[in-house]
Amino acid sequence: MFGKVMVVDDARVVRVSLGRIMKSLDFEVLKCEDGQQALDTLREHPDVKLVMLDWNMPVMNGYDFLVSIREMDEHKQQPMVIMVTTEASIPSMMKALAAGADEYVMKPFDIEMIKSKLDLLGVAYQQ
Ligand SMILES: [Mg+2]
Repeated sequence: MFGKVMVVDDARVVRVSLGRIMKSLDFEVLKCEDGQQALDTLREHPDVKLVMLDWNMPVMNGYDFLVSIREMDEHKQQPMVIMVTTEASIPSMMKALAAGADEYVMKPFDIEMIKSKLDLLGVAYQQ
């Protein structure tokens, strides 16, 4: 097992497909449907290594979740956050990176795209 990963997306199909990919890379997967659930889950599991984060979600969106956790002393750097989103514009990307996202994946994604981002971040996974 290579650690805990949170998959945060309001679309069930994304939670399932991305969850399956992360499981195949031997991560423990925690699924959340919005930013508020993600905050609660991170509080319960402060050792989460990586968050795969959608932008557009009800209740609390991914951007607001990101800003909230990076304001916490214990989460300024960890967990790493990869935005997984259709918000593909350069300004959106810059905004998320400035707020503390570590990488960016455009939907639709596949396992090779996910692996290449993990490689860039130096995150170990099942080869
Ligand atoms: Mg969404």
